[in-house]
Parts: sequence; structure tokens; C-alpha cells
Amino acid sequence: MFIFDAHLDLAMNAMEWNRDLTWSVEDIRAKEEGMIDKPDRGKNTVSLGAMRRGNIGLCMATQIARYVKKENELPGWNSPHQAWAQTQGQLAWYRAMEAIGEMVQITNLAELNNHLDLWNSLGNSKNPIGYILSLEGADSIITLDHLEKSYEQGLRAIGPAHYGPGTYAHGTNSIGGIGRKGKELLKEIARLNIILDTTHLCDESFWETMKAYHGPLWASHNNCRALVNHNRQFSDEQLIELIRRGAVIGIALDAWMMVPKWVKGESTPESMGLTLEHMADHIDHICQLAGNSLHVGIGTDLDGGFGREQSPADINTIADLQKLPNLLYKRGYNNKDIENIMHANFIRFLRKTWS
Ligand SMILES: [Zn+2]
Repeated sequence: MFIFDAHLDLAMNAMEWNRDLTWSVEDIRAKEEGMIDKPDRGKNTVSLGAMRRGNIGLCMATQIARYVKKENELPGWNSPHQAWAQTQGQLAWYRAMEAIGEMVQITNLAELNNHLDLWNSLGNSKNPIGYILSLEGADSIITLDHLEKSYEQGLRAIGPAHYGPGTYAHGTNSIGGIGRKGKELLKEIARLNIILDTTHLCDESFWETMKAYHGPLWASHNNCRALVNHNRQFSDEQLIELIRRGAVIGIALDAWMMVPKWVKGESTPESMGLTLEHMADHIDHICQLAGNSLHVGIGTDLDGGFGREQSPADINTIADLQKLPNLLYKRGYNNKDIENIMHANFIRFLRKTWS
């Protein structure tokens, strides 16, 4: 079944992890043997080939670069100008993948329909991976003119915050609102018809955003607080608000967001019994809140700074997402529901936003 993944950090992997994603997952692992600079060395699960094998023909692919002010302890760039330059480097990598036919950028309805036709008609052995550009955390947007420039470069979704306090909103593990700058950004996002990604907004910033913003919005990679009680996940009240506004919520495969009591660096998928069944639990929770299968999808984040050590035990590569339809089927989901979840909800959302 065709899969839409609403959150991958492909360019970050290429440019900061030095991974050539045209290699196989196994070759990337072999190259990283013995490296200890990052916890997921040698344990990656994503490559362009693995995406093709798993029929994941379309994704939201990020630019990501955090700007941190002097007093902030989080890792990041010391100026928004450096953060902007980093995102431009990431875009240059996407362009290089386009130039050799590995990827293709999707920015409008016609390109979306053509791409889906291609994947429907030709099978998946050589097709380019379609990507829609999104920005995770808006700190690299130096001025609103930079947002317009990004839109011209193909940016179609944006999350105002990531971790900690940002320029335009407060993100995960921080507390605070969106301020004047946040409101100005939201106005410009709505004017440009960019999709607002509510993922990572802290509670206060989330609710202020709901008041200030009336354009298209979703949550690309966000799990349920009712199942894993942490501010990174959304409460039922937040999920219900998103559903009311027509959002789709992508379920992420980062272990600590899937099961309670995960201890980073200590817990293992095996010791916690973590499998795709837990993903199905989060999917089911949102379907129960909505009363239908129309508001949930997939936003794996499988290359978001972690690998097999922090993913479900039954994920060796991203291609193993193809195990999910059968799990849902066994829980009583019908074919239509499963299609909605694997791709149709996000695609319907894009068509509506772009038509
Ligand atoms: Zn994220």
C-alpha cells in the first residue's frame, strides 16, 4: 500500500550525519561502524532505496536549524543568520537529489496528482521520492521576507517551534506564549497559505496559536498524552481541537513518545516490548476521539536523531511500515480506514489546501 510519511529529516541526515541516502541502509550502517559521535550511528533505518522498497513515495521532508540565544543551553546556531544558511544548505542537498532523479519536489496540486499517477502506474523500483518541503522550528526565518523567499523555494508547511523557547513560539519542554513576533509570523503563514504544523508547540503557545490562526493546520508527528504523559504529546483536549479544525495528526515512531517510562540510552525496544502495535494504539486513540479514521496518519520521524535503538523492535528499516496495514486490519479497521491512515488523509488535506 502507498505510504505518505509526514515527517522525515532527510537533509539533516545528509548534511549533519554525513549520510548518503542513495546508499542502502546496510551500507550506511557499515560505514558508521565504530563511530560514537551520535547515539544512532550504525543504527539508521532510512534511505531513499528503503523508502522505495516500502512504497513510501511521498513525504514531508524538513529543513531544520535551531537558533539559540546566549543564555540557552540547547544545542543550536548562535545567530538566526547561521540557522538560515544551514537550512539553505539542506535545500541545496534536496536540489542535488532532484538533479539526479532520486527525489522530486512537490509544491502544488498538479505536481501532486502527476506524482501519485506515476507511483500508481509504474510500480516503485526507480521512481523518484516525492518530497514536500517543511520547516521544523521557525528560528531560521530571520525576517518575514525570508518566509516569502522560502515559500518561493517550495516551503509548504512550517512549525513555529521545536525544543525550548524560540523566536516565534515556545516549544517542547518550555513554557510561554507566542508573543507579537509569533502572531506576525502566523499572519504571514496564513497569507501565503502555508500549512501550520502545530507539532512541538507547548500548551500555552498551542492555545494562543489556536486563537490567532485560522488557516490550514495539522500535526505532522505528534503522539497522544493520554498514552504517554509528557508535554511533547498532545492532550485529548488539544487533539479534539485539531480534529474539530480538520487537522490530520501523524503518529511518530520515536520510542519515548510511544510507551511510558522509556529511559533514553537505557531502555531497549526489546526490554520494553515496543512494537508497531504501540503505534496502532496511538492511531486508535485518535480514531476513537474523532469517531472515524479521517484525522490520523503517519509521521514517523524515523531519522530524527535516533535509529533502531529507539524504534519499534519490528522496524529494521522504514520499509517495515508495510507491516502496519495488517495490524490495523486485525483490530477491525477496514480497507478504506487503512488507506486513510497510510496516505489518504494527508493527501486529501493537501488537495484541499492547494485547490
Ligand atoms: Zn520533531
